[in-house]
Amino acid sequence: MPAEPQSFDRVLSSMCTDPHPAAREAAVDFLATNPGDPGTYPTISALEDDAVDALGEIAGLADPTGYIASGGTEANIQAVRIARERAETARPNVVMPDSGHFSFRKAADLLEVDLRIVPTDDDYRADLEAARASVDEETALVIGVAGTTEYGRVDPIPELGTLAHEVDALFHVDAAWGGYVLPFTDIPWNFEHAPVDTMTIDPHKMGQAAIPAGGLLVRDETLLDELAVDTPYLETTAQATLTGTRSGAGVASALAAFEALWPDGYAAQYERSQANAEWLAGELRNLGYDVIEPTLPLVAADVPAQTFDALRAEGWRVSRTGNDEMRVVCMPHVTREMLAAFLEDLDGCRAV
Ligand code: PLP
Repeated sequence: MPAEPQSFDRVLSSMCTDPHPAAREAAVDFLATNPGDPGTYPTISALEDDAVDALGEIAGLADPTGYIASGGTEANIQAVRIARERAETARPNVVMPDSGHFSFRKAADLLEVDLRIVPTDDDYRADLEAARASVDEETALVIGVAGTTEYGRVDPIPELGTLAHEVDALFHVDAAWGGYVLPFTDIPWNFEHAPVDTMTIDPHKMGQAAIPAGGLLVRDETLLDELAVDTPYLETTAQATLTGTRSGAGVASALAAFEALWPDGYAAQYERSQANAEWLAGELRNLGYDVIEPTLPLVAADVPAQTFDALRAEGWRVSRTGNDEMRVVCMPHVTREMLAAFLEDLDGCRAV
């Protein structure tokens, strides 16, 4: 018997979601195409150009360059790689807040750059003074996160960008999760608000596209050239992506989701998700928990491990931060009814 696809009914931990129907359909249609070989698969290649233009529109970058990656991890690794290729020093370093995603640790390992971790402040955002103290003439890249994985916080992006450029480093913004909600807030995060050189922005998270669809954007195409290698046996001559053969499903689906939802559908979804997060935060507080106020649709609260384990045993997919708080990501599939049922179970589990 084939296994049933997993339901999203009790999933509160994932940064991915049920794809929009149009995105699902496009993914199926383009499953057997390979944008890694544009000479052979020109249609999906053209759709990828449109998908990159779409990401540029979301991120405030006219005439964007980039590509649809396998996910945020690949895009982050590639951003570090661009910076390393640009650096004119034997042992470049990369400065990142401790809220940065673990994919940067993989990047540092693979690319042999020093990762300098900067502490975050009381509000879980990069500490600017600590970042200032960490950069030097060997800094190749400064990273800011626009929507952190654990707390949904946005670093001081314009200030970090200025700091990076003061030491001739590149500035990368990881908006893998936050990129599709931040346009509907007044928080500065994108190419228009700050001197951003490269950005990760993932359609397969808040963008409601099918996996695999990450996004890498670069301010000008010479940055992407840093990644290009010759491709003698393909019909085109160079490739900048990390993977070779890659599924066209994510590419087509990223574009289909954008066409269905930008901007009004995404705006409405942001409003719903944010309202859910604020409501959940209030209810958790009423139950007596310490709650970290949500900036974006992500709530962390100090729920004891025993209660957390009991909720997991009830089938709820929740996860914990490095500081051991419970975290709930209010993705598009997370409804108010689902959260109400979760709270009821939470209340019941407290007696355990
Ligand atoms: N960056 C951020 C801020 C993330 O939250 C994540 C994953 O949740 C990633 C990067 C990695 O993305 P992926 O899992 O698609 O590789």
